[in-house]
Amino acid sequence: MSVPAYRRAMPHRYRYEAAKCKSCGKLFFPPRLICDACKSREFETITLNREGVVKTYTVIHVAPSQFVDQAPYAISVVELKDGVSLLSQIVDCEFENLKVGMPVRLEFRKISEDGKGGIINYGYKCVPA
Ligand code: ZN
Repeated sequence: MSVPAYRRAMPHRYRYEAAKCKSCGKLFFPPRLICDACKSREFETITLNREGVVKTYTVIHVAPSQFVDQAPYAISVVELKDGVSLLSQIVDCEFENLKVGMPVRLEFRKISEDGKGGIINYGYKCVPA
């Protein structure tokens, strides 16, 4: 990930900031410029509730290159209490204990490293709540 892209991702990856449409109330995470429901360009910034439930999950055995050293790992679609769905790794949980519907919480963790001496990417991962 480039430095500008990394900086742009900071508000949502570090602070769980989402955009709420001022016209219809739809939430976008990560934030976007135009609401796909009502075409409004007016948003307010809100901080997401970090608790939610696992909607579905899978265990990745053959990982993309930047995550090879973490495989096998579990990835899930999580629905937060605000109604926002996002994709996140699930950590601190044995694979056999993963369940659809299990309560989870987003925590701030190291995501990956861009090679030796590169940027260390931080962001959110899910842990059992
Ligand atoms: Zn809208």
